[in-house]
Amino acid sequence: MVKKGEKKGRFPLVGAHMSIAGGVWKAFARGVGEGCAAMQIFTKNASQWEAPPLSRTDVLRFREEGKRAGIFPVFAHDAYLINLASPSAALRARSRRAFLEEMRRAELLGLSGLVMHPGAHTGSGVDAGLRRVAESLNWVHERTQGFSAVICVENTAGQGTVLAGEFGHLEGIFSGVKEQERLGICFDTCHAFAAGYDLRGAEGYESALSKMEAAVGKGRIRIIHANDAKGELGSRLDRHEHLGRGHLGLGCFRRIMNDPRFRDVPKILETPKEEDGLDMDLVNLEVLRALEGASRVPARLLEKSAGKVREAMKGQA
Ligand SMILES: [Zn+2]
Ligand SMILES: [Zn+2]
Repeated sequence: MVKKGEKKGRFPLVGAHMSIAGGVWKAFARGVGEGCAAMQIFTKNASQWEAPPLSRTDVLRFREEGKRAGIFPVFAHDAYLINLASPSAALRARSRRAFLEEMRRAELLGLSGLVMHPGAHTGSGVDAGLRRVAESLNWVHERTQGFSAVICVENTAGQGTVLAGEFGHLEGIFSGVKEQERLGICFDTCHAFAAGYDLRGAEGYESALSKMEAAVGKGRIRIIHANDAKGELGSRLDRHEHLGRGHLGLGCFRRIMNDPRFRDVPKILETPKEEDGLDMDLVNLEVLRALEGASRVPARLLEKSAGKVREAMKGQA
């Protein structure tokens, strides 16, 4: 059983989204505390357009702490206001500038990639929306030549006019982007399930991944968001649940943890942080680790609440 703050090896490559409150570099201490091998962060306040620029000290400190923590890779997630698919020229321009700034921040910090939501067409039609996203990504690529941070397009729950619930939308975006080698996919399990891809059984899991491959090609998934789903299959509900306690269940995560295609792909939690005063990242990460190498879901992880793991961790947080 892993105790809080215990040093973890690099594999399995699991981690969580960590807060940057108090300074970007502070995410690493938090990540070490949870036993993260990899991590995701916002590089700024995710619900605001503007942010003070990263100072040289911020950047140096971040890189230093990163080395010391041994947490790698680290991905950024873009701000929620950005909508590169917007039919409004003004909002699209603002979104492009904000996204470009996020790419610059990610690159400065030495991050591996920037996860982005493709956006919403807000009634202007799917094809037009996808075209605007692709054009915006080309615009960003032109201004970020030589960057090593890769843009990772995330599949969504497909709620309302939000694009990329269907994997076919991702094909629409990729096919319009000139520098496709600078694009990857962030695969979110909760979103895929909510969008109607049944990842619960072996067949559904394989079928969903082959649909993804058919859309964007092999080996495109660079990061996985390991989230269970509060909503049912096809509910379009973007609500994340603790692993094993949602409608998706643990089978999907067991397959991911043992899928050789994802050995080097970080599995990142975006699940609620706390429950009854218990640090739930510790619990959910322990669940992921326990699923690695397991030929079926271990009984101690069942009972809906990853029951015994949770019990065992009480008092440790
Ligand atoms: Zn996600
Ligand atoms: Zn989500």
